[in-house]
Amino acid sequence: MARADLIVAGKRVVIPDGIAPAAIVIRDGTITAVADYGAAADAARRVDVGDAAVLPGVVDTHVHVNEPGRTEWEGFESATRAAAAGGVTTIVDMPLNSVPVTTTVDALAAKARAAARCAMVDYAFWGGVVPGNLDRLGALADAGIRGFKCFLVPSGIDEFPPVAAADLRPAMALLAELGALLLVHAELPGPIERAARSRPAAADGRRYRDYLASRPPEAESEAIALMLALSRETGCAVHVVHLSAATALGQIGAARRAGLPVTVETCPHYLTFAAEDIPDGATAFKCAPPIRERDNRERLWAGLADGVIDFVASDHSPAPPALKRLDSGDFSRAWGGIASLELSLAATWTAASARGHTLSDLARWLAERPARLARLEHHKGRIAPGCDADLVAPPPPSRDAVRRHAAARRRAADLRAGDVRVRPGNVSVATRRPMGEPIKRA
Ligand SMILES: [Zn+2]
Repeated sequence: MARADLIVAGKRVVIPDGIAPAAIVIRDGTITAVADYGAAADAARRVDVGDAAVLPGVVDTHVHVNEPGRTEWEGFESATRAAAAGGVTTIVDMPLNSVPVTTTVDALAAKARAAARCAMVDYAFWGGVVPGNLDRLGALADAGIRGFKCFLVPSGIDEFPPVAAADLRPAMALLAELGALLLVHAELPGPIERAARSRPAAADGRRYRDYLASRPPEAESEAIALMLALSRETGCAVHVVHLSAATALGQIGAARRAGLPVTVETCPHYLTFAAEDIPDGATAFKCAPPIRERDNRERLWAGLADGVIDFVASDHSPAPPALKRLDSGDFSRAWGGIASLELSLAATWTAASARGHTLSDLARWLAERPARLARLEHHKGRIAPGCDADLVAPPPPSRDAVRRHAAARRRAADLRAGDVRVRPGNVSVATRRPMGEPIKRA
């Protein structure tokens, strides 16, 4: 066997079968073998991380990189640097809020050029379904996007308008034919409009409780019911992004038991925060659907534990401080979006371990299942022969994980992809040269 470039050995390596002492043998950026911990293999270099956990690098399938067009919000350079620092080795980019939005092949090419210039981790792209782009979907699928995203309510930017059932029916029939997946922002306008009509005259834009009431759980559950019905009718596979309302779990579980192709993600902020704790005026917490009550959060954890929720993705969506209205604290005018790409692993592991979940659960929720959603499972999301050598050895969970991460980040500001910095006490990655040209279908 040819000489390996690197062996990463550890006492707690998270492999598909469980957690075991192992030596990961790497050549040309690919895992060639997972050997016994003490195995003598010929390698140019051996790194032993001891008791630190070694996981597959995080695959985050919900990242808004806003380049080109809104690079000052977040571009590929800053986003992928944050990803690398947080143990995220692959991102899948959302079709908004760049200009242009990724609803045409030309727009996809512009995104790919921007990413190729500076990305530090691997990347792939989602395309968009908007009113009137039905005849572009086939070309986008052929050009290598991993699936499509749509909104049922205004997205926050005019360039990416929502679709209604009348647009969705032909689009989903076509996507089913193409074998492509549809991701949906599942909130319907009806319940949001009803909530606005019953809004008390004394409602205060700074009060979190009033913002929460403006996006009720029915907006999610009614949207999901519609999408399940359309999936049943057209055969199109549906993925519900950023589920917040635990009330929708029952119908999703029933649909899955009935054989419908439906998957669901939730986000670290829904699993970490609770509405009761969010101060009035704290618009950094604004996102849609909103962060709900503590009891709802625990039901989301139960949904993850029993498999109705498939995995966790960040929904990283930064905006400049002025747009977040951090000064006025007005929820009704602030940009909705939470920037969390870099903290997703630290926050999720900390909250998961407090509830008794294992490193294997974490690897499944943050790497294996998201890789499968984006059809990257042959190369990503597992520590197994044939997969890319994307590894992360995060620091142990703790309540101040986020603060400690920020401090470690300042010390490691020059992190580059391709570096091998697998050492306990620091989030580090061993990844090969970033790649992510849209992958063409055979
Ligand atoms: Zn999003």
